[in-house]
Amino acid sequence: MKRTVWRAGLAAIGTLTLSTAVFAQAAQPPTRAITNIGGDLYRVQDNQHYTVFLVTPEGIILGDPINPQVATWLKGELATRFPNRQVRYVLQSHHDFDHASGARVFNDTAELVGHADFNAELRKAQSSVPEFFAALDLNKNGRFEKAEMQGQFGAFLAVQDRNGDGTVTPAELYTDVMPVETTFTDRRTVTLGGKTVQLIHPGTAHAKDMAVLYFPAERVVFAVDYLPVKSLPFGFAPSTPQDVIASVRAVETLDFDTITPGHGEVGAKADVTAYRQYVEDLVAGIQEGIRAGRTVEQLQAGNMLDKYKAWPNYAMQRNQNIAEVYGILKAPAR
Ligand SMILES: [Zn+2]
Ligand SMILES: [Zn+2]
Repeated sequence: MKRTVWRAGLAAIGTLTLSTAVFAQAAQPPTRAITNIGGDLYRVQDNQHYTVFLVTPEGIILGDPINPQVATWLKGELATRFPNRQVRYVLQSHHDFDHASGARVFNDTAELVGHADFNAELRKAQSSVPEFFAALDLNKNGRFEKAEMQGQFGAFLAVQDRNGDGTVTPAELYTDVMPVETTFTDRRTVTLGGKTVQLIHPGTAHAKDMAVLYFPAERVVFAVDYLPVKSLPFGFAPSTPQDVIASVRAVETLDFDTITPGHGEVGAKADVTAYRQYVEDLVAGIQEGIRAGRTVEQLQAGNMLDKYKAWPNYAMQRNQNIAEVYGILKAPAR
């Protein structure tokens, strides 16, 4: 148990960094854009969050709705740009509220689809503080009081206070996430207007209900939160580096050219392989260090992972990645 608690603490520190970056702009006017990324496939930006949609003669297939404000804005944009093409499907990458909220906006015309574990994970999330906000819950009472919602990051949380009682509960964070209506377990092909997208469960990295979207004709993969492009991870919990490696390999087996992530820049297939290699190098370097009797601090002071120095968040995340994986590998087997 001790090990679990310690790991959770480290993960919270790392994910707080993520969340600060991801949610920092919440208090400012949003940066939103729609960009074509090949054929009839488009990428949608809302600040640091991204989704995709595919236009077909019989309607539109949308990925994550992100949140109700984005969904409402997007619905208007789609009506102008693609008149008479309704959104027929919303394909959820996973249940996390900052990607999955807002599907209700499209539910009059769209079927909501997600992994078979989506609804169970959603129910769990509605009753416990999300791992990536855990560090803010200073008094560990499972909700956020005014004193815990300071700064830009806290401001993001504060706007989720639906009933205005000054406290944000997990249920309030998940108010706008609807359960999915149909599910899949390993793989499902959705066909509309002669075009297809596959939902693929790559494994349990980041979330048990993780789904990647594969657009075979456009040769594009949409993957959220567990597979960054030219970027170090913000932590592995609640999964392990081994889970992540397996889930990245599942994507590498697909035939595609472009990866469009839920955060950050678009990349090539080679970036997917480079990310898997980063995680493998991290694990191998720490295994070697542990065998040689080195401490976390000694490994952090050394030159491991130097070849990834050019990735923009290297300086910010490297030492935290080393500490987290060291803790995982050093812990006695359960
Ligand atoms: Zn997530
Ligand atoms: Zn995310």
